[in-house]
Amino acid sequence: MGCKVIFDITMREKKNSYLPEFSCGYALPEKFKRKELCLPELGELDVIRHYNKLSNKNFSVDTHFYPLGSCTMKYNPKINDYIAGLENFSALHPLQPIDDVQGILEVLYTFQELLCSLTGMSAFTFQPSSGAQGELTGMLIARKFHELNGRRPSKVIVPDTAHGTNPASAAMAGFDTVIVKSNDNGLVDINSLKDIMDESVAAIMLTNPNTLGLFEKDILKIRELADKAGALMYYDGANFNALMGVTTPRMMGFDIIHLNLHKSFSTPHGCGGPGAGVVGVTEKLKDFLPVPIVVKDSGRYRLNYDMKKSVGKLRAFYGNISVLLRAYTYILRLGGDGVKRVSENAVLNANYIKEKLKDDFKAPYDDICMHEVVFSCINQKEKGITALDIAKRLIDRDIHPPTMYFPLLVKEALMVEPTETESKETLDYFIDIMRKINSEVETNPSIIKNAPVTMPVKRVDEVRAVRDMDFRWHKDGD
Ligand SMILES: *Cc1c(COP(=O)(O)O)cnc(C)c1O
Repeated sequence: MGCKVIFDITMREKKNSYLPEFSCGYALPEKFKRKELCLPELGELDVIRHYNKLSNKNFSVDTHFYPLGSCTMKYNPKINDYIAGLENFSALHPLQPIDDVQGILEVLYTFQELLCSLTGMSAFTFQPSSGAQGELTGMLIARKFHELNGRRPSKVIVPDTAHGTNPASAAMAGFDTVIVKSNDNGLVDINSLKDIMDESVAAIMLTNPNTLGLFEKDILKIRELADKAGALMYYDGANFNALMGVTTPRMMGFDIIHLNLHKSFSTPHGCGGPGAGVVGVTEKLKDFLPVPIVVKDSGRYRLNYDMKKSVGKLRAFYGNISVLLRAYTYILRLGGDGVKRVSENAVLNANYIKEKLKDDFKAPYDDICMHEVVFSCINQKEKGITALDIAKRLIDRDIHPPTMYFPLLVKEALMVEPTETESKETLDYFIDIMRKINSEVETNPSIIKNAPVTMPVKRVDEVRAVRDMDFRWHKDGD
């Protein structure tokens, strides 16, 4: 294969870049910078075959069932991409004069209103680009709210079932996190909560349905306790797909919420982005949102930066506009009834799987679940097969592994979230494969231990991967 130097790689001129210094790579030590770029010389056909072969190795919602719990890997309708790709949107520049961009501002304004009516909140920001960043925004708002009221509460309560980002976001905003235990039914233990809820608590962060897929039935009692202590209620609405159109976080008593548009609202996610963790607040917290907010004055839209209590800015410009357009398209296409049907079917699909598999895999909380169901493989573990082994064997059967070993509360956990977009045939296929794997535990355990056996990459040696971590690119034979 021939090879010739195409061009020298030179860093983008600093003066032409609006990006902050750290993202330009200036800080890279000299020895890591490439001096030249050497591209192979190949015919078009060879290149096409190469990339087609690679693309066929992809695993995605468009190709396979992807029941990754809490991640909501639902189908992303193609009309979303079509709308977001329209030139009137995609060719816009964020620094264009306001009069040129009235169309997109109208879309954003209407989208804020749509989200308010879906959640009961009074105002939204589109700035945060992920659920975690939404949580951080929420925690910064809580801190500033208390500060302006002359208080400095130091703690944030999170349940032991919380997504790991919750305590991390609270800590990033300067709070100490306090864990509240779950009871035997997998719900927040109200008595334990009473013991720790006092005036030193700034907020309680809750996911409802929680990460066990269970609805916190005592949510209004929790609200009362929070009110007495002067604490705010934060809703982790990453998985709002269980409740959209059925109830609202406002009715459940929450003050600040984030939604993951890249989960519940069918925008693509994976590899860390781009996402949108939009944040909504009640009336009393409206002025604390990050700037700018899209507002409407006498029929004209503009960006409002003049918010004295605002927590500031979280990122450049106004959010991931192409993601927002996709989610907006998704909601408009479904309409109010459609949004509700989404939730109903997400819950129905999870319960169908739970009922069909609970004789083979232990369901530690045998109550009606919401959009996802958590199984425990402890019975299989006694026979030497772990949740990890079962997850790997699913790959051989063209199924993406469920979320494993989370929530931490459940031993040998497999957390299955089918989403509403899967057909009954697909669910039945999954159920059938799970039962077959369970019988292999008796008849052919070694095939499960060695899985995946059909993939180009076999099981990695995880212990070695941690001990001898090496992220460098190696040329053949190097
Ligand atoms: C996915 C998820 C998050 C974090 O969202 P990111 O966009 O990945 O940062 C937070 N909480 C719950 C319950 C989640 O499922």
